[in-house]
Amino acid sequence: MLTKGGETKTLLISAVLDGEIISGTAIDITDKKKAEDALRVSSEHLRRADIFGQFIRKVAIAANEASNIEEPLHVTIDAVCDLIGWPVGHAYICSRETADELCSMDIWHIDDPKRFDSFRDATMATKFRCGVGLPGQVFAATKPIWVTDVTEDPRFLRAQAAREVGLKSGLFFPVLSNRDVKAVMEFFSTEAVGPDHELLDIFHQAGTQLGRAIERTQTEEKIHHLAFYDTLTGLPNKSFFRDLLRQTILTAGFENRPLAILAIGVEHFKEINNTLGYQNGDIILRLIGSRLSECVRDADIVARIGGDGFAIFMENNDIVVANGIALKITKRFEEPFVIEGVPVDISIRIGISFFPGHGDDADTLIRRAHVAIDTAKQREADFCTYSPEYDKYSQDRLILISELRTAISEDQLFLLYQPKINLKDARLIGAEALVRWQHPKSGIIPPNDFISLAERTGIIKQLTYWVLKEAIRQSRCWTQMGHEVSIAVNISVKNLQTPQFMDQIKGLLSTWGVDPGWLRFEITESIIMQNPELAMETITELTSMGIKFSIDDFGTGYSSLGYLQRFPVDELKIDKSFVMDMMKNENSRKIITTMIELGHSLELKITAEGVENKETLDILSRLGCDAVQGYFISRPISQVDFTGWLEKHSRGDHQYKV
Ligand code: C2E
Ligand code: CA
Ligand code: CA
Repeated sequence: MLTKGGETKTLLISAVLDGEIISGTAIDITDKKKAEDALRVSSEHLRRADIFGQFIRKVAIAANEASNIEEPLHVTIDAVCDLIGWPVGHAYICSRETADELCSMDIWHIDDPKRFDSFRDATMATKFRCGVGLPGQVFAATKPIWVTDVTEDPRFLRAQAAREVGLKSGLFFPVLSNRDVKAVMEFFSTEAVGPDHELLDIFHQAGTQLGRAIERTQTEEKIHHLAFYDTLTGLPNKSFFRDLLRQTILTAGFENRPLAILAIGVEHFKEINNTLGYQNGDIILRLIGSRLSECVRDADIVARIGGDGFAIFMENNDIVVANGIALKITKRFEEPFVIEGVPVDISIRIGISFFPGHGDDADTLIRRAHVAIDTAKQREADFCTYSPEYDKYSQDRLILISELRTAISEDQLFLLYQPKINLKDARLIGAEALVRWQHPKSGIIPPNDFISLAERTGIIKQLTYWVLKEAIRQSRCWTQMGHEVSIAVNISVKNLQTPQFMDQIKGLLSTWGVDPGWLRFEITESIIMQNPELAMETITELTSMGIKFSIDDFGTGYSSLGYLQRFPVDELKIDKSFVMDMMKNENSRKIITTMIELGHSLELKITAEGVENKETLDILSRLGCDAVQGYFISRPISQVDFTGWLEKHSRGDHQYKV
């Protein structure tokens, strides 16, 4: 009942309950309306929150899984257009070279291509420097801009093009990583829509997720470049050269085509460095690189594979062509290099090997090309092709392989253990088992001298089994003494490919009654990349048993965290080359910083290996690294020394240095 011409806003509510009139509860009508409105608003709010939540999740997943920059930007543009129902979306990337220009990524969401194509062309033809146009202003101010009608905004450079296709509102937002703009996104509607601050907030969140993903992929590219290219000459480095050669051997073998491998040694380079200085030495190396590149076809690969060593491989080249190229290079090097106006003579020698004639794996072919350099030296020739009678090394290796078999069966191998320490409290968190060979005549042989040989000949299966047996037995000993030490064992690709591997591990664990939780396997990225499906299957099965996995030598391979996070690994070990370099190399420090940040964002523990001094340890601690391993804490030590140290450690003596 409304009284007084509707002025009073009370309403008497009556209800019939069990035949009786119950009445008298007066409610303010405005309150009811308010309550209804509030309810509507809040359910609208919930609906929006739900939609926004879905949107952010979609962007976060795309950002987390990204292995390139384009993918997550594309997903986000589509998601924004779906969310707000606008027909046009587009992304620019901030140029890394000039750092003040936006380049179109040519990534678009366009609902009606016929209608909007002219606007797309106009966009592609416009340059946006920092501060120029609306995207440029977003770039400069690092804040989003929402314009109700872009065609009326003097800052908008494409007003005419927008008017022609009927675009009205524009939304521009930055993709940020820390305060750096990585990219700018723009969206257009065909109706005039005013700013929605809640949406802007959501886009800000999306932009931050994306920014992190872009930062990560860009860092991965940087790591990649450092890992695969020689920084001085810009040419592929040794490991990349080997990888490329390996891949090419596969196809060449399949298609029955020959390959020529040329190793190029610079003569007396040390003397050049000593007399002309290192800087001039570096200049000469760069010039050598470009001279070599000039002598071959674009498709041939030229690499710097050592301090003063270069190598080339050429597809489909027989001995006649290869000799022709070697002659051409020799002639080209007869011309002196001119350094600061002074002519400098550089002499080189070339060794040549062929696939398949001289071997069918990259390492053998590269090595044999080097044997041929030595032959050339002995014969005082400019170049020479490999010939087995000059190859003493090959014969030594053959002997070593047969000796290694005996070594395993006669227990000439032994393990050293290197502690891994938690950085926060200096407590021991594990030990890496590292194999050594006590050779009856040659003394102790380090693993680098026989592991790759064992891998190539298949003996690695027996070797790893021996190492596992010994490590698990040792784990049992330490557990019995009251010490729980997680032991890490290095695993090779051949192990994962062996069907019996799983049964061997199960057998050893049950024989010794060792908890799989105390075992950790270290694998390199290249192991995963050689056969990702198989790696996934084996790693998943082993982790379900309780065994843990680390990525070893991180930074020397593909370095794709986006990809690696699909595998159930929980630790990244930053390769020692970065760690040992970080005190003198700013770039290494930056890369380590990013590796730690990114690793943590993927919930991986980070261990730095190769920590050789207190300064490195302190920086790593400041950067938030979780664990360290290296000579500063301890060199790999015998089981007896390790036990002694464990006893001391368990009495509460937690020093970094063992
Ligand atoms: P890795 O897995 O990267 O092992 C770490 C290597 O770095 C070890 O060399 C260790 O002695 C060395 N290291 C540790 N801290 C420092 C440091 O502060 N400075 C320097 N300069 N080096 C440090 P090691 O024992 O000679 O092993 C070399 C490689 O041989 C290992 O590299 C691993 O790839 C392989 N390896 C060793 N044992 C086994 C094994 O049982 N099975 C397999 N498949 N590979 C093994
Ligand atoms: Ca390792
Ligand atoms: Ca390592």
